[in-house]
Amino acid sequence: MTNANQSSDSIFDRIIRREIPADIVFEDEHLIAFRDIAPQAPVHVLFVPKRGVRTLNDVPAGDAESLGRLLLAAAAYAKREGFAENGYRVLMNCNGDGGQTVFHIHLHLLAGRALHGFG
Ligand code: 5GP
Repeated sequence: MTNANQSSDSIFDRIIRREIPADIVFEDEHLIAFRDIAPQAPVHVLFVPKRGVRTLNDVPAGDAESLGRLLLAAAAYAKREGFAENGYRVLMNCNGDGGQTVFHIHLHLLAGRALHGFG
């Protein structure tokens, strides 16, 4: 099912369909995770739902599960990779002021250095 808020041809959809390459670190039936092409930290992985809406604003009120899955997948990755105890940051950008550039909802996971402040 698609509608105006559903992303179906973002760059991330093309990665999901294997039309363009990415360094994929995790995948299951719901989501895919791959390294950011312009990393802002030694670890910078994007967690992307396979059926993604465009922005956080478009997530239906009843779909807490899809957001929860992204967070839990990021935490599981941090534990597997051994940096969970040192710490990490997860964040989601929304629209212009939030700095969103790809309009297919995604969670950033940043780690491997001390992350202080925002912006
Ligand atoms: P946003 O600014 O929308 O929150 O984040 C989008 C992220 O996607 C950016 O950090 C950007 O570097 C990354 N990105 C954009 N295009 C590609 C791509 O083709 N491949 C990968 N792996 N990352 C990308």
